[in-house]
Formats: sequence, structure tokens, C-alpha cells
Amino acid sequence: MRPHVVKLAFLALAVVALGIGAPARAQQAEMERAPDRTRGEGPFERLIIRGVNIIDGAGSPLQGPVDIVIEGDRIVEIRGVGAPLVDIDESRRPGGATREIDATGMYAMPGFVDIHVHTGGVPKAPQAEYMYKLWMGHGITTTRGVGYGSFEFSLREKARSMRNEITAPRMYVFVRPGQGEGWGGGPINDPETARAWVGWAAGQEIDGARIDGLKLVSYDPDIMEALIDEAHQFGLGTVAHLGQTGVARMNALDAARIGLDNITHFYGLFEALYDDHDVQPWPMDQINNDEQQRFGEVASQWNMIHPQGSDEWNALIDELLELDVILDPTMTAYVATRDVMRARNADWHAEYTLPSLWDFYQPSRVNHGSYYYDWTTWTELTWRNFYRVWMAFLDDYKDAGGRVTVSSDAGFTYNLFGFSTIEEMELLQEAGFHPLEVIRGATLHGAEAIFGPKGERIQFGILRPGMKADIAIVAENPIQNLKVLYGTGVVRLNDETGKAERVGGVLWTIKDGIAYDAKALLADVRRMVEEQKRERGITTLPDVPWAGPIGN
Ligand SMILES: [Zn+2]
Repeated sequence: MRPHVVKLAFLALAVVALGIGAPARAQQAEMERAPDRTRGEGPFERLIIRGVNIIDGAGSPLQGPVDIVIEGDRIVEIRGVGAPLVDIDESRRPGGATREIDATGMYAMPGFVDIHVHTGGVPKAPQAEYMYKLWMGHGITTTRGVGYGSFEFSLREKARSMRNEITAPRMYVFVRPGQGEGWGGGPINDPETARAWVGWAAGQEIDGARIDGLKLVSYDPDIMEALIDEAHQFGLGTVAHLGQTGVARMNALDAARIGLDNITHFYGLFEALYDDHDVQPWPMDQINNDEQQRFGEVASQWNMIHPQGSDEWNALIDELLELDVILDPTMTAYVATRDVMRARNADWHAEYTLPSLWDFYQPSRVNHGSYYYDWTTWTELTWRNFYRVWMAFLDDYKDAGGRVTVSSDAGFTYNLFGFSTIEEMELLQEAGFHPLEVIRGATLHGAEAIFGPKGERIQFGILRPGMKADIAIVAENPIQNLKVLYGTGVVRLNDETGKAERVGGVLWTIKDGIAYDAKALLADVRRMVEEQKRERGITTLPDVPWAGPIGN
């Protein structure tokens, strides 16, 4: 008996020591890299997009009609060619096109930047192509992986995307401390090792690609400070999920004061505003590893804080602004908590959600984010209150001049890649952002989050001559209705036929001057989903069975 007991104890220790990095590493070992690119045309010697209205990403109102001239991978000219409802004077238009896209009456924006993504992995979405095409099919031309997968996988795929060998958005790689097969310095348990690892990681190059920053979670303050400081020495960005296991020692303000660039999710913000607590007063039976408890109880912070408009609330906004922190809320990642039935029945699941991903979403005590064990009206109402306060804070931060970005953290809790990035935009509008401010968050501010820490000028994120030709084009006006950006479009009554019809969806996603038919990319995704259904011998996603004879 005794050796058996010893062995079990050893296994338990090993699991604790490996911590959260382990599952990701095991998952990524089996991730299927995207196939070589077959989609997209270009880049062109001189591509002209004709007659389009532009939302420039900088917050300017809609302008149009304009002709956008692209040479190679760059925008070289954006020329106004008239006024609405007036025939365009052809003699005033730029010429010499080797390829034209007639976008008369359509809408062009900078390609979207989603700054919090993961590439699914085994078992939920084993083929990287699935995520990449869902992103590109929604006009997302840049992603920041926090992380995509393993250190090596991430850099290899980044390199292939950089060279446009695959159909994929740009990939900026943020890695977790200790990641990297070649790192021989052991776990990051002290500031010296933390600094040594950052220097090692910054120096790694695979196929010409290097890392761009660090994804941080809960570290003790001295280690956190070393990681952030050392990252900045190498021009690396930093983003942190200030999880519950570390937030008692480092809330959002503490992290901002030691130089953290981005705060993702909401962790640490409410804790910086408590009026009568220091540590969240969890119920006496709280166990953090019980995800329903963890995600159910965290929302009860909504009325534990100094309220909107209080001196404390305003002081936090002022200081975060002074420290130039970018907030990256990922509201869509939690939105199922306030209405899980709606999330389960989203328009896109039937055609776009892989059965393997659907399996992962089902209530489970081990799949991260699948915490709807016995989710109640009470909990949803707590979350709705939480969202009201969280949104008020984000809106006030934006009004004060703070930057709030768009991202999804998709692949958990019924959130589907691509679609959830658009949902995040809708949530920001609900928070009080004008759609122009939402789109600025999804473009310019996302680009600034990536280039700021490098000390470089942005390369994309606004429609300007000189910028990379990263553009999303849609037939309907997203200012009027952000829903037109969903791949499933929006249902609208056609008054001429008296029938409902679907309209919208991104038509063209242009990255590096290469024009992709966005609808064709989504058709590829639908085929991947059908294929997996065929393999399983099913035609629809499985529903949840009744517990007993009650439902018969
Ligand atoms: Zn995440």
C-alpha cells in the first residue's frame, strides 16, 4: 500500500507545481497548424476600392464617397470623390488600377484588432484554421494571443502569418512566464529568475518571429514588478489578468503603479474601490476551484464599492488615466452569466460551432468556463447588476480620455471566435460608447496597445495613407447597427417583399493588401463544422437530455 500512497502524493505535487501552464502545453502539442494559404488575392500593384464610405478608426464621422488606393501592402491615397447622392465626377477619380473593388455605398473600416484571444486546441477546436477563418471572416486582421498556445507554436504561426503563408490575422504573441521549451532556468519563483526568463524569452527567434509581450496572472508583487520592469527593458508589452489568487496583494491600481500596460477582464478594478473590505468577503464555504462559486460570487462585488461619481471612483479613473493604462474588458467572455439561455441559443451555434467545442461548453467541473452547474435567476441578476457598474466604470474611463479596447477571450462559456468580438462591440455600445468610439477601440486603440510598449508608431488601426492596407468592408452601416458585422448578419423585414431577410456580414477582409472574400472564409468554417458532424454521424448539435421521465 505504502508505495502506492507515495506515488499518488507525488502526482498531486507535480500537478500543483505545473499549475495553469500545464494543460495549455499538453493541449497545444496536438494542435493542428493551419494549412498553406489558398484564399485571398493580391497584394496588387495598384488596388483601388471605389466609392466607399469610411470610418477611419480615429473617431472621425463617416466620410464618403472616397476611393482608397492601395499599392502592395500599403494605403497610398484616400481621395474624396464627391458628396452623397451626387453623381461622381469620373475625371476626379484616381486611375491606373490593376485591380478594382466596387464598394459603392458600402462601408470600410480599419481591420479590427482583437487583443485577447486564444487558439482553441485539443479537444475543443483542434485545427487552428477554424479560429483563423472565423476571425478573418469577421474583419479581424490582427489578434494578440495571450497566448495562442505553446511558445513555439505561437511563434511559428506568427511567422507564417507575417509572410501571409496562411489565411490568418496578424499574430502578436504574448507569452506566460516560464513558457518556452528551451528555458532551462526552472519555475519563476523569485524576481531574479523572473528577470532571467524575460531576457531569455525576448531573445528567442523562430522563423524570424519574436515575442511581443507577457501575459501575466497572479504573481507576488516583487515577482510581478520584476517581470513588468524587465519586459519594458526589452520593449515588450504587459497585460495581466489579476486573478483572485493574487488580487489581495495586487489590485488594478497597485499593478498600474508598477507599470502594467493593460488590465484584462475586470479583476482588480472592484478591489481597488472597496468601501468596507480589503479582501472580498467570500462565503464561508468558498472554494476557488469550484468555478460556479468562483464566477457566481465574484459578481457580488457590484455593491461593495464606492459608487459611481464618488471621490474614490473618480480618483481611480484619474490615476489609471495618468498612468496611461489601457483597459481590455472582454465583457463578452462573461456575458452568458447574465443570460445563459440566450448564450446557448445564439444565432451562430448551429452552423459555426464545432461539436467538439459544443461539448466543451457543456456544464462541467473541469472544463474552464463551463461553470453553469446549477445557474440561477439570482446569480444572473447579480451579474446584471455587476455589468451595470462595470460598464459605468468603462464608460467614465473612456469619457475621461482613457482607452478601452475590444477583445473576446473566445472559446469558453458559449463564446464563439469572431462572433464574440462583434458582441464585445455591442456591449461597449451598451456601456455608453458611441459606435464611433467602439470602432476606435477595436482599431486605433487596439493598435496602440500593441505598438505603444514597443515605442513604435502604429502600422495599422486607422485609415490613412502610409498605413498597412488592413481593411474590413461591409455593405451595411455599422454605425447604424453594429449587428451587421456578425457573420450571420442581421434579420430585417424587406418592405418590398413583406418577407424577412438576412443582410450584412463582412464582405471583404483585406490584410497586407491581400483581399479575402470574407463570406468564402466563413463558408470554409461551415464546411469544417459539417465535416465533424458527419464524422460523428449527427446533423445538429446535441441537446441536453432530461433527467428522468419528467420530460417524456
Ligand atoms: Zn484569456
